[in-house]
Amino acid sequence: PDVPYDHLVRIAAEHAPDRPAIIYHNLILTYREVVSMINCIANGLHELGIRKGECICLFTTNRPEYTLTFIAAGSIGAVVSPMNPAYKEREVTYQLENSEASTILIQRELVPILKLVLSQKSFPHLKHILVTGDHPPEGLPDAIPLATLIRRSSPKYQKHVEISGDDLLALPYSSGTTGLPKGTMLTHHNLTSNNLQFTTALRTDPNDVALLFLPFYHIYGVMLTGSFLACGGTQVLMERFDLLQSLELCEKHKVTYYFAVPPIILALANAPVDLGKLKSLKYIFSGAAPLPLDPARRLQEKTGIQVVQGYGMTEASPLTHSQPGDPSLVRLDSVGMPTHNTEQKVMDIETGERELPLGEDGEIIIRGPQIMAGYWKAPEETARTLRDGWLYTGDIGHIDADGYTYIVDRKKEMIKYKGFGVAPAEIESLLMEHPAVLDSAVIGVPDDEAGELIKGFVVLRKGQNATPNEIITFANGKLAGYKRVHIIEFIDAIPKTASGKILRRDLKEREKARTA
Ligand code: ATP
Ligand code: MG
Repeated sequence: PDVPYDHLVRIAAEHAPDRPAIIYHNLILTYREVVSMINCIANGLHELGIRKGECICLFTTNRPEYTLTFIAAGSIGAVVSPMNPAYKEREVTYQLENSEASTILIQRELVPILKLVLSQKSFPHLKHILVTGDHPPEGLPDAIPLATLIRRSSPKYQKHVEISGDDLLALPYSSGTTGLPKGTMLTHHNLTSNNLQFTTALRTDPNDVALLFLPFYHIYGVMLTGSFLACGGTQVLMERFDLLQSLELCEKHKVTYYFAVPPIILALANAPVDLGKLKSLKYIFSGAAPLPLDPARRLQEKTGIQVVQGYGMTEASPLTHSQPGDPSLVRLDSVGMPTHNTEQKVMDIETGERELPLGEDGEIIIRGPQIMAGYWKAPEETARTLRDGWLYTGDIGHIDADGYTYIVDRKKEMIKYKGFGVAPAEIESLLMEHPAVLDSAVIGVPDDEAGELIKGFVVLRKGQNATPNEIITFANGKLAGYKRVHIIEFIDAIPKTASGKILRRDLKEREKARTA
């Protein structure tokens, strides 16, 4: 689909202008209203002098303004860089500077951080500040309220610029699980393709209602908000995850798709509340990190709702794998199969040059229309990651004889015990089968003899008791010799990224600090 990103929502609006597109608290925006507002914002941004290729940072939580400005910016050829609303000064400074943004849209509540950042440093690229709401915030007299920009602009579509599929649309940053977040260049073709791949893979249609609490700044959220507008469905926004509120909203709006990350699956599985309010759901979807199987199964038993996994990454817009649409074909422990038009291979871990046979673990590589144009201002990293059109994911996995793909773990986080590769995720999932264990994280800790020993951090359930030795005995009874856990430490909470990934590098640093 060599069409600009705004095209699909415009088609959806032509088909069903009065259908609700976005629900946010008591506000219901129809498709007609969504497209009018996109046009107003696009015309307003153009009027400000924003031109093709300029970057606009979006610094907001999950709100309609985020999605509307994203699509509007794309329609005038601007490039959107979503920014984590939990960021503090140092991180905001990094992304504003690195992305060379000319414009920032900021949520009113976040103004104090931006003021602080601007008082400490000058940003030669930055020309415009837009703020949610209808009056300029204190201390930023030049900031333009988005409501003013919308009010003074025409809701008519105006074609300001020619856009091709290869033009850049977004510059999201990766989660920074393994290092500094990487700016990832995604084109109109990448994101439009992924919207279509998502809607075909999940078979969403205009009657579907999605509950969206996963953060929009992360690529998973970018896909969800964009795809549900593209397929003509309805999205119900939540600014942050709250379990009870999510149940209420599911019941109230007859939600059909619940999108989660593993920590939320864990929270639902363990919640001492009736989950009957979820009964309108077709699926509970999990992605972004390995799914612990025991909690996922318990959640399925409790609710009778199918849990399915998808897999992807920022560099792939993000979706590359999803389960077959037929629920009887779903395999909980697998991420499913490549999405439409997506090819995959499993390569040897050392060189990445030899394709491995079915069943063997190696590095997953992927080719398809959703694969990024490259990393932003990092040609060497791009050359390492994109080779002959294939994306080297850095993830280890295998494909079974029926074509299902299994992600084992990240290449960077595999533990080397006496030369054997051990996947932390597998041990974590097993530890969580122990009745006293609520959550866990596993890392390798340096050892002169073995190279690395396997250490598990464990969060105990409230009111439960177990000794480290009991947990070690439980786990090791179910593991091959080289995968056995050597050390267990109790911890209050597992450090995780906002996208639900275990920050194993934080745990490693703690270990280092302790042994130093
Ligand atoms: P960084 O690249 O900055 O270190 P990151 O890789 O965590 O951070 P994202 O692009 O948000 O940034 O995450 C993509 C990664 O998430 C994948 O490469 C994979 O390791 C992991 N992942 C996503 N979905 C799944 C899944 N279903 N099962 C296991 N891992 C998953
Ligand atoms: Mg990554």
